[in-house]
Amino acid sequence: MKKNRPSLPPVTRRNFLKTGALTSLLLGSGAYTHSASAGERVAEGSAKNVIFLVSDGMSIGTLSMADQYLLWREGKRSNWMQLYLDERGRRGLMDVASLDSIVTDSAASAVAWGCGHRVNNNSVNIGPDGTHHPPILPLARASGKGTGLVTSTTVTHATPAGFSANVPNRGQEADIAEQYLEREFDIILGGGRNQFYPDRRNDGQDLVGKFAEKEYAVARTREELDATPLRQRKILGLFSNGHLPYELDRMNSDSLKRDVPSLAELTSRALRALSRNENGFIMQVEGGRVDHAAHANDIGGLIFDQIAFDEALGVALEFQEANPETLIILTTDHGNANPGLNSGNNNGERNFGRLSEFKGTHGALGLNAEQSSSDIIERFREVTGLDLSSGDADLLRRRLNNEYRVPYSRMNGTSAVIGQIIANHTDIGWVGNAHTSDYVELLALGPGSEGIKPFTRNTDLFDLMVSATGIKRELV
Ligand SMILES: [Zn+2]
Repeated sequence: MKKNRPSLPPVTRRNFLKTGALTSLLLGSGAYTHSASAGERVAEGSAKNVIFLVSDGMSIGTLSMADQYLLWREGKRSNWMQLYLDERGRRGLMDVASLDSIVTDSAASAVAWGCGHRVNNNSVNIGPDGTHHPPILPLARASGKGTGLVTSTTVTHATPAGFSANVPNRGQEADIAEQYLEREFDIILGGGRNQFYPDRRNDGQDLVGKFAEKEYAVARTREELDATPLRQRKILGLFSNGHLPYELDRMNSDSLKRDVPSLAELTSRALRALSRNENGFIMQVEGGRVDHAAHANDIGGLIFDQIAFDEALGVALEFQEANPETLIILTTDHGNANPGLNSGNNNGERNFGRLSEFKGTHGALGLNAEQSSSDIIERFREVTGLDLSSGDADLLRRRLNNEYRVPYSRMNGTSAVIGQIIANHTDIGWVGNAHTSDYVELLALGPGSEGIKPFTRNTDLFDLMVSATGIKRELV
C-alpha cells in the first residue's frame, strides 16, 4: 500500500493572494532559493577566457526556425544545433526571472549574469536598496584580464551594460558611455554613435576624443576597422548612430554591406585583439536585434539576425578549438513573442521557404497612411515577393489609418498586423510581441562548463564565470 505523502494545501486564488506563495516561489524570496551555486563545483581558475554569447529575446521557435531555414536553404545545421547533435558541452534550461517580475527585461537579465544579483527590471547593477554591485567586466579588468563588448544594438544598450555599468535605469545610455570611458574596456564594438560624439550628445562632450586620448583606435566603418593595426588592443568601433541595421536590410543594401561589419566580423576582430592579453579575457557578444524583430513580429528581421548571431557563434567556436582554455556560454536573456511555424502539411515547408525571397524588414516596406491598397500590394511584392490579397491590403490600409483594431490589443500595432498578414503566406505565427516568462536554452562548452545543471538560476552564471576564471568577486 502506498504511503501517503504530506500534501500541501490546495492553491486557491484566495490562498494565493493571501500568502503570495506563487510570487515568492517564482521570484526567489521564499521557498525557491538557490541551494548550491553552480560555480562552486567548477575547477577554480581553469578558464583563461570567457566568451558569453547572447541571442537577445530568442524564443525556442526562433532557434528552431533558423536551424530549419539553414537546413532547407543551405543543407547545413546552425552552429547552435550542431553542438547539440555533436553532444558537445553541457546543456540545460535557465530561469531568467528578475527581482520584481517573472518576465524579465534585458537589463535585469544581463545583470543577473553580470553581477550575480537579481535586480528590478530596467536597473543596471543597482539593487532596490541602492547597492551598487560590481559587474563582471570591471572585475575582470581588475584581475588583469582583457574585456570586450560586441553587439548589434547600441553598445550602451541593456545587455552589454549588464556586464559593465552601474546606472539606476537602462535608458541612461549617455551615462553608460561615460562609464565605459572611465572603466576602459578594451573592445567596444557595435552601434550607438549618438552617445559618443559631441554633436550628438546633449551635454556636447566629445567622448570619442577622450577615448582616443586613452589610446583607443576609433572606427566608424568596416574600412576603418580593417585599418586598425593588428597589435591594437583597445578599439571603439561605432558603425551606426543608433542600433546596427537588421541583417536582412544590411545584406540587401550595397552601402550598408560595405560599411557595417557583420556580427561575426566584429567578433573575429574582437577576438584577435583580446587574445593578445596573456592573462586572457572576458567578452560578451550579443545578437541584440533578434529581440527587436520579435517585438516587431518581423519574421525576416528575426530569422536573418538569428543566423547572423549563429555565424558569430561559429567564430567563437573556432577560437575555442584553437584555444581550449576558453569557456563559451551560449544562451538568451528571455523568450520574446514565441514565433513558430504553424502548419501540419507540406505547404508549411513551402510557405516557410518564402522567406528566401525577402529583401527587407517591415521598415523597408515604407508603409504610410496615405497609401492605397494597390500601393501596399506593390510594396509587399517588391520587398517580400508576397502577393497580398486585396482584402489583406485593405485591412492593413485601414490599420494604418486607425480604422481597424485586432481583438488582442497588444497585437494592434501596425508592425504586429503586418506580421499577421505575412503569416497568411509563411504560416509563421506569433503568440504576442513582448518578452515571455519561458525558461531558456543554456549551453556551456570548455573549462567551467561542468557547473551547468539541468536547470540553472541566472545568477549562478556569475558564480560560474568567477570561479572558472579565478577573478576576484569584489573591486578592491
Ligand atoms: Zn526586448
